[in-house]
Amino acid sequence: MITSKSIALISVHGDPAIEIGKEEAGGQNVYVRKVGEALGNLGWQVDMFTRKSNATQPTVVQHTPNCRTIRLVAGPEEFVPRQQIYEYVPQFVQEFLKFQEQQHRDYSLVHTNYWISAAVGMELQKFQPIPQVHTYHSLGAVKYKAVSTIPMIASTRLGVEKACLENADRIVATSPQEKEHMRTLVSTKGQIDVIPCGTDIQQFGCVSQVVAREKLGIPQDSSVVFYVGRFDRRKGIETLVRAVSRSTLRDQHDLRLMIGGGWRPGQSDGKERDRIASLVEELGITDLTTFPGRIGHDELPLYYAAANVCVVPSHYEPFGLVAIEAMASRTPVVASDVGGLQFTVVSEETGLLCPAQDDAAFAVAIDRILSHPDWQTQLGKAARERVESQFSWDGVARQLSNLYSTLVVQSSHSLDPAIA
Ligand code: UDP
Repeated sequence: MITSKSIALISVHGDPAIEIGKEEAGGQNVYVRKVGEALGNLGWQVDMFTRKSNATQPTVVQHTPNCRTIRLVAGPEEFVPRQQIYEYVPQFVQEFLKFQEQQHRDYSLVHTNYWISAAVGMELQKFQPIPQVHTYHSLGAVKYKAVSTIPMIASTRLGVEKACLENADRIVATSPQEKEHMRTLVSTKGQIDVIPCGTDIQQFGCVSQVVAREKLGIPQDSSVVFYVGRFDRRKGIETLVRAVSRSTLRDQHDLRLMIGGGWRPGQSDGKERDRIASLVEELGITDLTTFPGRIGHDELPLYYAAANVCVVPSHYEPFGLVAIEAMASRTPVVASDVGGLQFTVVSEETGLLCPAQDDAAFAVAIDRILSHPDWQTQLGKAARERVESQFSWDGVARQLSNLYSTLVVQSSHSLDPAIA
């Protein structure tokens, strides 16, 4: 009978040990790392597997006594765009099995993240039938509805996502909206639990607006609109920039727009950043806009706290960590009325929801919050309460831990002939 409390989190393209805020590093990296560490604190031995994408990276990174990242060599040891990583799945599986054998590790459960890891998990089932839990992070069926050119890899991805939904022991949807999309767009078969993403409620919300502004050198009487995230067209930064340029408060307020996030010159994020910078210039808002670059999680609480409003203008978002990080920091959120943002942001209570890509609606929403400071405080307070009650990492990890325990016990019963 399996009694091990060792689990493997697999995140082939989203390295949990890497710095966040670059193009390929975003919510998934944060999710895997934070879930891994929190599960480690609950007594699980957590090994997080990812692809080595740089020869100078250490193979093993120990995060906490029970939680480490292991980088497997699968494909070239350099950055490879995620659409091209699928071809290295067989090599990843072989390296995983080799690692397990060398380390004498028996995992009692595998939790895979994103469809490429789903393929790894399903392949592993052929060698070791242990429970597989899966989190999608993004659904091909939703994504391809919204894009004009569908990549070659799309049919493979859609096939893997459907097979995984129908065959994994449990799918974790991070919002009821994501679950609904799985059911309507992927398959009616398979078992889905809704367990949201979380955030660190000690880290976010630990500093006041006054102190944060002092530390960042932002005047106390200015009105700060904040965005942070990857530079990707689907993040809708264009909508935000257009909305701010339409603001009716520009003449009366010291309005400031801060657009945080890293980029690499010449890569897709660098090109999007250049496009946004040109638009800022074209719209005549250069003097009020800053691009602070990648913001580390040590400094990020200051930015959220310094802001009057945080804007999440994504075209689509399965969950959207930025919204709950801002809310934990008592900053109201103006977000697109899509996906997981409909779950996290309660319109008129913790912020406002607007139709995606509707810059006129975003302008009105931003202005409403900026011109009513008392309401802004009230929204921020309610936002903080909502995150404390529903979206702390510890609470999320407890729900995952309960799910794993149930599945491990079920699987050990079905494998133990004395019980079966
Ligand atoms: N992030 C960060 N610094 C940056 C840009 C982004 O720490 O400069 C983090 C942000 O705080 C959040 C994550 O990256 O934790 C983005 O997650 P989200 O779910 O909002 O978007 P995704 O990247 O998954 O599309």
